[in-house]
Amino acid sequence: TATAPDLSPCTIMGAGLVGSLLALYLARRGHVVDVYERRADPRLSGAVEGRSINLALSDRGWRALEGVGISEQVREVAIPMYRRVMHDQQGRLTHQPYGRENQAIYSVSRGGLNRTLLNLTEADPRIRMHFNEHCQHVDLRARRLEMHNTLTDQEQTLPFRRLFGADGAYSAVRGAMQKTDRYEFSQSYLEYGYKELTIEAGPNGEWQLEKNALHIWPRGQYMMIALPNLDGSFNCTLFFPYEGQESFTALETPTQVAAFFQERFPDAMPFMPDLVEEFIQNPTGSLITVRCFPWTHKDEVVLLGDASHAIVPFYGQGMNSGFEDCSVLDALLNQYGEDWHTVFSEFQRQRKPNADAMADLAIYNFEEMRDRVANPRFLLQKKIESKISAQYPDQWLPLYSQVTFSATPYADAWANGQRQESIMQRLMPHIHTEADYDLPAVQEMVRQEMEKIDALS
Ligand code: FAD
Repeated sequence: TATAPDLSPCTIMGAGLVGSLLALYLARRGHVVDVYERRADPRLSGAVEGRSINLALSDRGWRALEGVGISEQVREVAIPMYRRVMHDQQGRLTHQPYGRENQAIYSVSRGGLNRTLLNLTEADPRIRMHFNEHCQHVDLRARRLEMHNTLTDQEQTLPFRRLFGADGAYSAVRGAMQKTDRYEFSQSYLEYGYKELTIEAGPNGEWQLEKNALHIWPRGQYMMIALPNLDGSFNCTLFFPYEGQESFTALETPTQVAAFFQERFPDAMPFMPDLVEEFIQNPTGSLITVRCFPWTHKDEVVLLGDASHAIVPFYGQGMNSGFEDCSVLDALLNQYGEDWHTVFSEFQRQRKPNADAMADLAIYNFEEMRDRVANPRFLLQKKIESKISAQYPDQWLPLYSQVTFSATPYADAWANGQRQESIMQRLMPHIHTEADYDLPAVQEMVRQEMEKIDALS
């Protein structure tokens, strides 16, 4: 039996993507919500925001936005990307569709999305936003927050009843939980960093590369990608080793940077007039994976988004999984009616294995993007997989589609994907061209594999 709903006020730390969406979900359930954010209100500083940075939004994220009724608004400023376009070192292109026809991931502006969410929080009288408030310390026992206002330089101590840590990969809320007994925590960095660069719009605001695609320049040990913006430009990200022969450390001078791009990315270089300046001036970002447990403290504190599961960006799922956290939490609140103890324990029980699987998938996809997509055998394998999927839609949804275009829990998707990969390892030695898929012997092997899948389910 459901207990009486506990509508005591909620405190959210962090008004990033996840914190601002969560505020909308909680307020719509009738809670008064206080949101504290270290940074200034981005809508005030927005006009001077320089570079446009975009993210790939996919089905899980869309579903969570639909839950608060804002998906249509976001869709108007989102650019569908139907396929990957790979650029080799001679500028030759190959393609790989992301899913079935008309299935796409969407390029959206991070700042634009955050501002849209914040505008909606403003429209809800139950939500109170507090910008320039940096949480310095969380006292879990006394349920108090020590805050520092970065504008007035004033300190204050605030009580909380229920605290939602959506304060990102370096979460202060998690920091306090890490000091509790037997807390599990690990963080690891890739030996790669990233640099954001720009492909300019053409003279009339046109896109100089195919607009509705995610572009990849796979180079084995590293890669560059580009996502389209509404103004005709592309936001590029170079994922590159910190150390080694080809690395951030090795590219010290403007001449070295220009020569490197000319040699490795010759077809992109003409569209990057500010390349050298951007390369030198833009910061090099690091790539962290965070795992921790538990995500909750009593029925008082819970972590969401990057605070509990920061992952590397190669599957485009960090924000999407953080958004999914919000919709899963909301569904549990529907199910258990604000019985927070049950809701919090169910939340971490369901989400933790999925977050772990997603962290592994994200690293796996880095190898795929920087290396395997340049291999013709890999592309052939992907074509064969889509043929299997078309012929046996009930038995076979490609791993990428399970992660990106379905609500299948990440852990199940990863397990299915590994099973599919072992099937492909058995099939591919018998397949040399796309047409080989129709050979009776191959068809028979596929049929037998599908029977085995049926037997498992
Ligand atoms: P954040 O966005 O980090 O927000 C946390 C907020 O908390 C911030 O506003 C911060 O200022 C505030 N804060 C932090 N500490 C404090 C404190 N002590 N006191 C008060 N406030 C505080 N995900 C995708 O789904 N698709 C993509 O294509 C994608 N691409 C990415 C590309 C790159 C290069 C990177 C690095 C990440 C990418 N991600 C992508 C991941 C995505 O950016 C994150 O998963 C997402 O931003 C997490 O949202 P969040 O709200 O949990 O954390």
